[in-house]
Amino acid sequence: MDDAGPRLLTQSAELRERALKRTPGGVHSNVRLSGSRDFIRCARGAWLYSVDGHDYVDYLLGQGPNFLGHAPQPIVDAVFAACRDGIIFGGQHELEVRAAELVCDAVGWPDMIRFSMTGTEAVQAALRLARAATGRTKIIRFEGHYHGWLDNVLISQRDGKWGAASAGQLTSHLDDSVILPWNDATAVAEALERHEIAAVIMEPIMINAGVIEPLPGYLDAIRELTRQHSSVLIFDEVISGFRLGLGGGAARYGVTPDLVTYGKAIAGGFPVAALAGNAELMSRFGTGEVNHAGTFNSSVMATAAVTATLTSLLEDPPYDRITQHGNALMAGLREISAAHNVPLRIVGLPQAFHVAFGDADVTDYRSLQQLDLARYEQLSRVLVEHGIWVAGRGVWYVSASHGERELEVALTRFDKALTDWVAR
Ligand code: PMP
Repeated sequence: MDDAGPRLLTQSAELRERALKRTPGGVHSNVRLSGSRDFIRCARGAWLYSVDGHDYVDYLLGQGPNFLGHAPQPIVDAVFAACRDGIIFGGQHELEVRAAELVCDAVGWPDMIRFSMTGTEAVQAALRLARAATGRTKIIRFEGHYHGWLDNVLISQRDGKWGAASAGQLTSHLDDSVILPWNDATAVAEALERHEIAAVIMEPIMINAGVIEPLPGYLDAIRELTRQHSSVLIFDEVISGFRLGLGGGAARYGVTPDLVTYGKAIAGGFPVAALAGNAELMSRFGTGEVNHAGTFNSSVMATAAVTATLTSLLEDPPYDRITQHGNALMAGLREISAAHNVPLRIVGLPQAFHVAFGDADVTDYRSLQQLDLARYEQLSRVLVEHGIWVAGRGVWYVSASHGERELEVALTRFDKALTDWVAR
């Protein structure tokens, strides 16, 4: 373990120089533009090891997918074994049937599922299906909720207004979105009265920004309103699915949507996402009425990964362990930051929580802005320098492979990082 002295990045600097010549920004996803400059050599369990010999306790988990830890043996073995007999067939195979059955049965309410490669695609399929089923075009979505990087869903706030987030984005693709503050059922009720709405899409717990839970009764109210207006309710559980429990946010809060998207934790780190829902809606793909496609959908790799992950979650549920670690971690971080007089707000669930400077009653994206998020981003760089792998956004993820040792190391490093932070 390397806890002493500054972490020198020699080989990483060389790799970065090469990367910058061939890859814009040196990264293949803009989400990583602001990440650490240290190149990863390998990862096991809850640990990352860099080319320069540094190790990190990982609380970013590849932005969520490594829910079972890095390179979980049973999943990797199952995928490698299955792929020896072929990876993609342009035809059907048994594993995809098994994977579909496992997910639908584990979650309980969905009748049918379609796999895709990314959460972005699963969301697109959900929106198209909702529009086809209702014959309407407009959707209601929420400030601060992320649903992928495509033109019709990517939004950011500029000068107090929500709109396109990227140069080159077709802003007209957002014309059909009604963007509302979250956790405000009245706003949704009014919008449903004013517009013909195909779908209401939301993260049932706002993990992407602030790990904000729904207020009591909010999801029930939205469920009721969408029923009254015959609009499709879509829960985007790309992060919360299988992380909060087998039933995700829907089960945690006791509200069943019409459609749900999954990704990340569903496949032990492999690139898989899914759209699931009731047969009445989903069967429209099967008749060919609604198009959904993808060369790599339901590959042997993907469906072996889903099958092995679900089997692992069912046979050896990690949820209690994760809850224990997450709670102990949050308590430890709070205690240490109080001892250093560093006013951190650590709020959320043990499976995913949010760290920021400040103190505010946060119920939506607007109130989240009352926290000093930029200052935490600076602190996150110090944490990485001290061997705790976290992102600047402030969301910490806990995996099934975080145990006693990781807790001890993380808290010791956090203590040192805060000493360093206060001295700067
Ligand atoms: N929906 C949510 C809630 C997400 O958090 C994400 C990714 N962070 C996506 C959709 C898009 O998933 P992907 O990056 O796999 O396209």
